[in-house]
Amino acid sequence: MLTTPHHSVAIVGGGQAGLSLSHYLSERSIDHVVFEKHRAMHVWRTQRWDNFCLVTPNWQCRLPGHEYRGSEPHGFMRKDEIIDYLDAFKAAVNAPLREGVAVRRVAPRGQGGFAIDTSDGAFTADQAAAMRHKMWQHAEHQAGLTPAEPEAWAGSPVLNWQALSHDPVFRPLADNESVPDALDAIFEPGGWRRSRPGAQILFSLPEPGPWVLPDDWHMDCGFEQPSWPVPAVKLFAFFGEVGPRGGGTLLLTGTHRLVDRYREGLPAPAGAGRRNWLPFMRHHPWLARLLDGADLPDGGRPLVGAAGEIDGVPVQVVELTGSPGDVVVTHHHVFHTRSPNTATVPRLMLGKEIRRAEEGQ
Ligand SMILES: Cc1cc2nc3c(=O)[nH]c(=O)nc-3n(C[C@H](O)[C@H](O)[C@H](O)COP(=O)(O)OP(=O)(O)OC[C@H]3O[C@@H](n4cnc5c(N)ncnc54)[C@H](O)[C@@H]3O)c2cc1C
Repeated sequence: MLTTPHHSVAIVGGGQAGLSLSHYLSERSIDHVVFEKHRAMHVWRTQRWDNFCLVTPNWQCRLPGHEYRGSEPHGFMRKDEIIDYLDAFKAAVNAPLREGVAVRRVAPRGQGGFAIDTSDGAFTADQAAAMRHKMWQHAEHQAGLTPAEPEAWAGSPVLNWQALSHDPVFRPLADNESVPDALDAIFEPGGWRRSRPGAQILFSLPEPGPWVLPDDWHMDCGFEQPSWPVPAVKLFAFFGEVGPRGGGTLLLTGTHRLVDRYREGLPAPAGAGRRNWLPFMRHHPWLARLLDGADLPDGGRPLVGAAGEIDGVPVQVVELTGSPGDVVVTHHHVFHTRSPNTATVPRLMLGKEIRRAEEGQ
């Protein structure tokens, strides 16, 4: 689905035609985006044989602003030379390219323009914009906060999102084409509970740096249930841009596997709560080190992205960053923590739990 804001022009395909068009649009300062399902110039790279050479002479290669300037205008470039020529063109055009994003459908919209459904993101830019609008309305009503007055954000009271948490505006987070497909694959078709509309609003205002690795690692549950079959998942969605150190939730990937082993060694079922999550974090030195953020060199910042292995299980500290419409699905037993937002814009994310359907549901 379209996950970027509106564009005056959307170009489908980052081949020579798409990038030429981008060149002319940029020349005229017309805002646009280029969707390319693979990499720019994909067909020249992958659909030509190794000793391929042009059948048209080099002097005919006259992409806009990038004519052939080599020493053999009457020669015929070979595959590698063509790719170099096209890569140089790509660099010169510097198009607003979204590589790895396939356009799935282009449909006219009632109010004019087109809605573009892409392989990127689960819900649309318009749906994300409606969520932001609703959220800011609430923030203004509650604390006088508006997106246009960042100077008023400092010292704001903690906002209460309870009144919004079941608002249908957040329905597209789970109610779209991609998320149900992912849930069907995880639980089996029909094997998960369709929940009420709404979501947990994960909002954090910018705060002064430096960014320090937080120590509030937890699950949204206790250790009572085994990790398999998957009892529940948590969806994390973006309804605003969230960049590095922008408050995106930190995940400890792989911990769901460790939780499963750890719970088997517990003398009695342990419920949710810091008194039970902390011993888990302390049960292995690699995990325990993540609790020392403020005392670590550079506030533990180098540990973001750090990968390790605990008893054969790969683990990693992953910071969630994304664009409006992106949804990340995690196992319910993946440890995570809120993270400081030392960027300049509020962190606008959503959380939602989806549970396995009970027998007979
Ligand atoms: C065997 C062969 C030899 C050729 N020899 C010559 C020659 O000697 N001289 C010459 O001038 N021309 C030659 N051509 C023609 C030349 O390759 C094409 O004219 C040129 O590649 C067309 O450029 P394009 O940008 O229109 O399309 P392409 O180069 O085909 O680019 C289209 C791009 O769109 C992407 N795309 C497709 N669908 C989607 C989607 N749904 N969402 C997002 N992205 C998508 C693709 O991945 C691709 O990167 C040859 C072609 C072939 C097949």
